[in-house]
Amino acid sequence: MSEHKDFLRTIVEEDLQKGKYKEIITRFPPEPNGFPHIGHAKSICINFGIAKDYKGHCNLRMDDTNPTTEDTKYVEALKDAVKWLGFDWGDTVYYTSDYFGKIYDYAIELIKMGKAYVDSLNEEEIREYRGTVTQPGRRSVYAQRSIEENLDLLERMRKGEFKEGEHVLRAKIDMSAANMKMRDPLLYRIRHAHHFRTQNEWCIYPMYDFAHCLSDYIEGVSHSICTLEFENNRDIYDWLLDELNLTPPRPYQHEFARLGINYTVMSKRKLLELVNGNYVNGWDDPRMPTIAGYKRRGYTPESILNFCDQIGIAKANSMVDVSLLEFCIRDDLNKKAPRVMCVLDPIKVTIENYEGAEEIEASYYPHDVPKEGSRKIPFSKEVYIEREDFEENPPKDYNRLTLEQPVRLRHAYIITCKEVIKDANGNIVEIKAEYNPNSKSGQDTSGIKVKSAIQWVCAKKAKTIEVRLYDRLYKNEAPEELEDLNPDSLHIIKNALIEPAVITDKADERFQFERQGYFYADPIDYTDEHPVFNKIVGLKDSWAKKTKEAESAPKLQPKAAPKQETPKVQVAGSEAPMSEVQKALFEKYTNELKLNSEVANILARDEKLSSFYEEALRVLNSPVNLANIIANEVARELKEKELKELKFTALHIAELIKMVDDETISNKIAKQIFEEMAQTGESPTKIVESKGLVQISDPAVILPIIHEIIAKNLDNVEKFKAGNTKLLGFFVGQVLKATNGKANPQVVNELVAQQLNA
Ligand code: ATP
Ligand code: MG
Repeated sequence: MSEHKDFLRTIVEEDLQKGKYKEIITRFPPEPNGFPHIGHAKSICINFGIAKDYKGHCNLRMDDTNPTTEDTKYVEALKDAVKWLGFDWGDTVYYTSDYFGKIYDYAIELIKMGKAYVDSLNEEEIREYRGTVTQPGRRSVYAQRSIEENLDLLERMRKGEFKEGEHVLRAKIDMSAANMKMRDPLLYRIRHAHHFRTQNEWCIYPMYDFAHCLSDYIEGVSHSICTLEFENNRDIYDWLLDELNLTPPRPYQHEFARLGINYTVMSKRKLLELVNGNYVNGWDDPRMPTIAGYKRRGYTPESILNFCDQIGIAKANSMVDVSLLEFCIRDDLNKKAPRVMCVLDPIKVTIENYEGAEEIEASYYPHDVPKEGSRKIPFSKEVYIEREDFEENPPKDYNRLTLEQPVRLRHAYIITCKEVIKDANGNIVEIKAEYNPNSKSGQDTSGIKVKSAIQWVCAKKAKTIEVRLYDRLYKNEAPEELEDLNPDSLHIIKNALIEPAVITDKADERFQFERQGYFYADPIDYTDEHPVFNKIVGLKDSWAKKTKEAESAPKLQPKAAPKQETPKVQVAGSEAPMSEVQKALFEKYTNELKLNSEVANILARDEKLSSFYEEALRVLNSPVNLANIIANEVARELKEKELKELKFTALHIAELIKMVDDETISNKIAKQIFEEMAQTGESPTKIVESKGLVQISDPAVILPIIHEIIAKNLDNVEKFKAGNTKLLGFFVGQVLKATNGKANPQVVNELVAQQLNA
């Protein structure tokens, strides 16, 4: 069970204590109209997780009430996703369509109680009669129909005697209810469509609000957990279950915050658009935020589960930084993946004083990974190294091969550059080098100092592979339109070279290509003749830096393959073993404070950072968030400065992170404040106050702004209602603008959608 009890588990425990239910039954109820995404993973973890924690059961239920968009291929994708994440729904997959008969009977019962009627207003009139947020609605004249007439009409609707839209069944609740959803909600509508399971048996289909609560009840669900946008639907849920005089116990609905991640979209409708428009290569394209996409890219189920655990369960919507997800996969693979050498952009090096050939035994794993295994790496006179690991005119801090500076070939010898061969255009085509025979890794007596070790492959024995590098699917953080897609999200390298053991030995399917990142043998396209690897994630978060570069030079940036910085802590072999003190810190950080090993490693090895961290921890118990900012932002500052030269202290950092934890500011704003603080030394609270950066998530503050903007743009509201859904973005944009970007975009998005659809 998760360590911190979230509000949902608190409710479940109270209900168990009160004896409200004998068994905890939850359900994961997706509509099979697309592949599940990472947001669904959150819902899966919550529903299956709670059932597991309290020894209950979680049903997998296909919410298939909309015949025109649903399909069995989506049912299969949903089952795959749940299974892959390691959850078990038992023997039966449930379908709302299995209850169509029962739901129909409940409708008849409501009519007989005088609580439902067949309405014959058209769609337009229904909307008009409903009123607005500020004005009550009025009831249709058809609400006066007799019970007999209603029963007869519903029967004939079912028999297919009417056209779509001619009649609907509505609950008779309250046309002036403050909650607009309660203004006589629709229960059934006519759809002359083929359903993938019930075929042509039905031509009327129950609406979500009617079918969902009843399906929950029929299945004996105790806790019906859904996302916040259904908050207003809860009144309908309760009304229906209460009015129908059902045998107790009945389920109750509880809402949690939807997951949003930046640089991607999280709606099946939008994802379908990408698939249908061939903007990506199918639902399982490794750039997609779908579970199938992550799976194909090489993410592990453990990393996704850990991510869902890290983000927690809250009642306030927020946008999660995608780097957290990347952190989770890196953290997982760091413990598991064999380290191998691959050269993505090869340049030939001829070692002139080396004759013959040898095989070098090298471990797949660094010393701090509790796994064993090794392979033989062929070595000979001709090797390939990464083009960018040689510089003729190196910048100051360049620590790889230059005309003057030797470098170690990882696991092998130290080489020195002797000559550079260029083609007619001045491009380097080959490097002539010499090696030192006494410098072999592990038995080096040469006394030569090098600043780094680089990857290489043997020219004769290396295998050619295709490597697919992925970048963010969208170029901006909160994408709205197709134009926001990142045109360079896929970069294919056809002729990368890899050491042969990776192909023949197959120690695993996921590898760390040293200094490049983690890679996965593509489960679909990989063959022995044509090996294909997907880049799962880089070795460290290089995005923060990249965005900055992009901001300062937004245009004319020729985009090469995403470059991975030489990682500070990952050059295995050049990394010194930890001292006892460092080891103890590392243990504490990973075991007690639950930091991932990468962050723990950075902090434990650097005394300045660890003491800074410990000091911040003394005033704020937020180990993970503090560690992240200290291992990234503070570490960056400390590269160039001494501790006492910093304009801020550990207390300032704690103050800043406190505001993030309280959701006063977003993570993004926190980074902005950090930059300002590092320059001016001003306290973060002051900066937030003076710049008015407090994030606004309170619907009570945001709603009036939305109403005002809606009132000013009634023409666009009309267009939206007529089907121009792209205008949603327009309204969201207006609201964000009106709040100077301080409104929580996710909350605005949902409120705007809710208001426009009301
Ligand atoms: P989409 O808008 O992507 O189609 P949805 O809410 O319509 O999503 P469903 O298939 O109806 O998708 O959802 C199944 C379950 O998953 C629901 O309980 C829903 O609340 C939950 N869910 C969907 N998206 C998210 C998300 N982003 N974060 C958390 N839970 C989600
Ligand atoms: Mg949906």
